[in-house]
Amino acid sequence: MAQASRNGALDFDVVIVGAGFAGMYMLYRLRGLGFRARVLEAGSGVGGTWYWNRYPGARCDVESMEYSYQFSDELQQEWEWSERYAAQPELLRYANHVADRFDLRRDIQFDTRVTTAAFDEADGCWVIETRDGARTHAAFIIMATGCLSSPNTPTFKGLETFKGERYHTGHWPHGPVDFTGKRVAIIGTGSSAVQSIPIIAAQAKHLTVFQRTANFSVPAHNGPIEPDYVDFFNGGQKLYFWAIVASAGLFLLSGVPLWFPRTFGRTLTAVGHVAHDVAAIVMLVGFIVHIYEATAAQPGTFQSMTRGTVATRWAWTHHPAWYKRATGRDPRDGIKN
Ligand SMILES: Cc1cc2nc3c(=O)[nH]c(=O)nc-3n(C[C@H](O)[C@H](O)[C@H](O)COP(=O)(O)OP(=O)(O)OC[C@H]3O[C@@H](n4cnc5c(N)ncnc54)[C@H](O)[C@@H]3O)c2cc1C
Repeated sequence: MAQASRNGALDFDVVIVGAGFAGMYMLYRLRGLGFRARVLEAGSGVGGTWYWNRYPGARCDVESMEYSYQFSDELQQEWEWSERYAAQPELLRYANHVADRFDLRRDIQFDTRVTTAAFDEADGCWVIETRDGARTHAAFIIMATGCLSSPNTPTFKGLETFKGERYHTGHWPHGPVDFTGKRVAIIGTGSSAVQSIPIIAAQAKHLTVFQRTANFSVPAHNGPIEPDYVDFFNGGQKLYFWAIVASAGLFLLSGVPLWFPRTFGRTLTAVGHVAHDVAAIVMLVGFIVHIYEATAAQPGTFQSMTRGTVATRWAWTHHPAWYKRATGRDPRDGIKN
């Protein structure tokens, strides 16, 4: 347990800033280790990214099954995702479910923005100040503030005097926004724009997209999640995972006599060679079976895994003609979704 020179008068052992997926898990872990931890969260609810990013079309682009927490088998087994790539409302429901299931809320302070954190050398602890002026003393501070939780609002000239409605995907209103009959402009063509453009375009009277740099974007093959895939993931997938870990371990271990042939002598080095090759083959076969099974359980898995590879990106950028011949799609058409 943390010791500070503040005569034990610490408010908490650990203060965690942010109640997104990272902050929630950190709280769960630290509690389990016996620490007194408190989460300070600027928003009014858990979920972080999925609390703030409520724009139409917001969803994860890593498969829901993999985006889920993996620390609790019960949680993994009981939660059912409806889509292969879950949308924001479902992800936020999941975050809330996790908070309730593990009784996290009692140690989370919402609507509390941390403004400063300074280490007090004399007292040997962190002094954390929040927007309401309150001070908290803790031995440790963990910034679970994410990498995308500060919206980047561009400083365009005239933005302050713009009379129309203005939104930022990373700070979207909690209620629905109706674009029906409106002329809309979207600035940027990153992931959030790629997700929201088709939906806003279907609603708005006219949509203009301003693109500085084209992004590489691949088909998601989204759809309802296949029960077979869930079974595969929750059951067999683990087996494959450990098989691959075990063969990778054996691969590394069997390499030891190869690196030090003098120490280990001829026989052990030869055994090392054989074990090395066997482990490499097991790993390769395991990987191929894994992809094959995953694709059988959820069609499109293989395509999703391969279409975003470095090779395709390279061809897309440098050899559009090759890319078109191989995929039937012209990179110069603009965004591909
Ligand atoms: C649209 C979108 C799709 C994404 N899809 C994927 C995906 O498919 N796969 C993937 O791996 N990642 C994805 N990400 C990245 C995503 O940010 C992470 O997966 C994950 O949610 C980050 O969790 P976090 O807890 O680290 O941070 P966040 O979820 O960003 O949480 C940080 C929290 O800290 C709080 N906070 C920040 N500063 C302060 C402060 N000073 N005081 C108090 N509280 C503060 C914020 O309010 C926020 O709640 C996506 C991001 C976006 C925006």
